[in-house]
Amino acid sequence: MGVTTMPFEVCISQKQIATRVCELGKQISSDYNGKVVHLVCVLKGAYTFLADLARSIDSPVTVDFLAVSSYGRGKTRSEGVRVTKDLDLLLEGKDVIVVEDIVDSGMTLSFLLPLLQSRHPASLKTAALLSKRSRRQVEVKIDYIGFEVPDRFVVGYGLDYDQEYRQLSYVAAMD
Ligand code: IMP
Ligand code: MG
Repeated sequence: MGVTTMPFEVCISQKQIATRVCELGKQISSDYNGKVVHLVCVLKGAYTFLADLARSIDSPVTVDFLAVSSYGRGKTRSEGVRVTKDLDLLLEGKDVIVVEDIVDSGMTLSFLLPLLQSRHPASLKTAALLSKRSRRQVEVKIDYIGFEVPDRFVVGYGLDYDQEYRQLSYVAAMD
């Protein structure tokens, strides 16, 4: 079934995303003030956000990638969080921002943060394009949030449903 025939409702337009990502980039640039910002992308969902965010930051940027298991096929969590692809680079002494697509229950970040902290970065912050505050099961501090979204399943701009729809340039809700 093609994208146009799916029961999608565009929640956040391409333009709204671009504007907000630019604002976040400006804020990060001013907070880090010329220091190297090391962006850690949580694959796969955060790849689009990371690419745009990195290009909107004025400070020098380095990037690395890790993957965690989160949702399996479909919309329900099939197992606990675990690292399926680890970082290539050391974090020691780096000013790290973990970049997530969406914080939902908070399980992924609450698993990742102590793990990354144990590698002795100089600082460790978090950025998420989206946050579903009402779904939180564990409190996690998100330093840079793009948008708060209601409790609906969303796709696009990196986020998938069963691995599809990541390529959409907007965020849409599926019902
Ligand atoms: P958490 O561990 O429950 O906070 O969930 C984090 C991960 O679940 C995100 O990084 C996404 O990969 C996935 N996820 C949560 N909600 C959605 C959604 O509405 N659409 C697509 N993926 C989601
Ligand atoms: Mg994710």
